[in-house]
Amino acid sequence: MNKNMLVIAAHPDDAEFTSGGSLTRWISEGWAVSLAICTDGGKGSQSSEDDPAVLTKTRQAEQEASARVLGIREVIWLGHPDGQLAQAARQLEEQLTYLIRKVRPDRLLAWDAWKPYQLHPDHRTAGQAAMDAVLTAGNPHFYPDQLQQTPGLQPHQVGEVYLFGTDDPDEWVDITATFERKMESIACHESQVASLRDLALQLSHCNRDRGVTRGYTYAEAFKVLHPFCDT
Ligand SMILES: [Zn+2]
Repeated sequence: MNKNMLVIAAHPDDAEFTSGGSLTRWISEGWAVSLAICTDGGKGSQSSEDDPAVLTKTRQAEQEASARVLGIREVIWLGHPDGQLAQAARQLEEQLTYLIRKVRPDRLLAWDAWKPYQLHPDHRTAGQAAMDAVLTAGNPHFYPDQLQQTPGLQPHQVGEVYLFGTDDPDEWVDITATFERKMESIACHESQVASLRDLALQLSHCNRDRGVTRGYTYAEAFKVLHPFCDT
């Protein structure tokens, strides 16, 4: 199998918490995964002592290390200010359109933009922009300058979309064999993890709850869309 996957996350560590076990499983099955991070992660601290510029560098290094643990092919940094993604929504949609046309993913993962009471504005914006870009990337009349200015760039229709962080899942991935690897990748995000032991306990409960209805020890759950099947 030689298939491409594009994960669109708002922050460093979003992909690991929501989908790390599934990603490393799919990679072992032959998927090539590109991970786009929309923000710079510079506000990932509650301490006023922390310098956002230093934190940004730290979080980039943590994310690159974590990607290596999971086997992710490349991390793409879009660099918008953390917490303020909504202010860049239109530019983000254009960037993601370009990225989809370039990576040409068979499967795209993103935040569920329709999740009720999704508190984090970056998660809402990243999810919505990703869905809008799925439409625009597939149609040559959107952002035609991208196609004219980049040799070889073509419109691309994404085959399937997996939404993470969803309240309405219809696909469960057995991550029993990859749960340890998921925890190993999360441990790379040292600046975000106060107690790895507490976090492991919390995630094991969460992934166990997800798996229990399907007969898996640990699972991650997604809402799956096939965007171009019913249009
Ligand atoms: Zn996040």
